[in-house]
Amino acid sequence: MVERNISMKKEGFGVNVLIVGHRCYRCKHSWVPRDIGEIPEICPKCKSPYWKSPKKLFKKGERKNGK
Ligand SMILES: [Zn+2]
Repeated sequence: MVERNISMKKEGFGVNVLIVGHRCYRCKHSWVPRDIGEIPEICPKCKSPYWKSPKKLFKKGERKNGK
């Protein structure tokens, strides 16, 4: 029998671990913050404040709905 050992790992060491972190939409830079609950305002690499949102155009004065 093959035992499936694929599960949601919160953290791990070694190979194939699932790391929770952030990734910039602009420069593709990914990093792991010291505190995952703390979302940086800008990307530490490209300094873009729009690192958390995909590239898209939205009209001025129109607020996008929070998901
Ligand atoms: Zn970036």
